[in-house]
Amino acid sequence: MTDKLSFACERLRGISGLKVHKNQSLAAWTSFKAGGPADLLVLPSTRDSLIELKKTCVSEGWPLTIIGRGSNILISDQGIRGITAILSPALGSIRSCDQTLICEAGASLYEIAARAARLGLSGFEFACGIPGSVGGAILMNAGAFEGSMADLVLRTSYLDSDGELAELTGDQHDFSYRHSFFSENPQAIILETEIQLKQEPATLIYDRMADFARRRYQKQPLASLTAGSAFRRPEGHYAGKLISEAGMKGYTRGRAGVSDLHAGFIVNHGGATAREIGQVFADVRRAVYEREGILLEPEVRLVGEWEDDPFTIG
Ligand SMILES: Cc1cc2nc3c(=O)[nH]c(=O)nc-3n(C[C@H](O)[C@H](O)[C@H](O)COP(=O)(O)OP(=O)(O)OC[C@H]3O[C@@H](n4cnc5c(N)ncnc54)[C@H](O)[C@@H]3O)c2cc1C
Repeated sequence: MTDKLSFACERLRGISGLKVHKNQSLAAWTSFKAGGPADLLVLPSTRDSLIELKKTCVSEGWPLTIIGRGSNILISDQGIRGITAILSPALGSIRSCDQTLICEAGASLYEIAARAARLGLSGFEFACGIPGSVGGAILMNAGAFEGSMADLVLRTSYLDSDGELAELTGDQHDFSYRHSFFSENPQAIILETEIQLKQEPATLIYDRMADFARRRYQKQPLASLTAGSAFRRPEGHYAGKLISEAGMKGYTRGRAGVSDLHAGFIVNHGGATAREIGQVFADVRRAVYEREGILLEPEVRLVGEWEDDPFTIG
């Protein structure tokens, strides 16, 4: 195994534009600040190096995991076997063309929102407080304040499971609530997307962004280590309300727990393992299920080598 890793490491170091590190902790690359190491952590600095990385992994049969800004994932304490590539912030260019912005997958949602506002382009304000990359946001169809990526995305170029360049336009993205074509195609890598905005006076755009930021600040535990809303919204309900009603707001277990500001957020209070965080998910699901008969579905995605599903309530 070690020999195989050393071989893979040397092979990948031969690709121009890739930084490769062995056995690197990934916790710092996630908003939960938890989880174990990557066998090989790879940081592509150019689109071509990412394409060559993918092609090499396909031809060698090496598993490749993609992370954007790590704000919607829980990585196992055992870490991720094979190769993990982090796309943000390096692959983060943003270009404007009339009323559209063309964004590389690693571009941060904050920066896209700021650029749009500067250019007097509206439509992206909803995303200004979401701490992800646009690649992760497309996969998740991220949304807030009645807006979502589905409203804006015109086309997306990506690498398919064989490493070939491909493109989706419009409805082909198959967007629905926190879902897209890419949720069903985990081997695909989003490279770039074009979003359609519309001209509006910048002051109105900044006012809307300030309003959204204020509402987030009042309601969400932004100073805590979380991955945003822990659970999908169950049809006809709000996860946070169900969790509060089940008496779990402010619940703690070890070094993890449920936020006492917004029960929909699960928090690493400092030094929690991924297992501890996963156990809080399971405890919350169990409590809500026992009270309401509703099984909450996690929005946060599990990544890496898990012996069992930590979210299962047994
Ligand atoms: C404080 C806070 C508030 C949040 N608020 C919101 C909110 O209001 N609305 C909302 O929808 N979400 C919210 N989130 C969740 C999260 O920020 C979004 O889902 C975000 O879009 C995830 O982007 P990311 O780059 O961090 O993805 P990651 O967490 O890095 O990855 C998420 C998934 O996407 C995949 N992925 C990432 N990039 C690519 C790529 N280029 N190609 C293929 N697959 C890729 C990963 O493999 C993984 O499966 C919040 C999170 C936090 C911490």
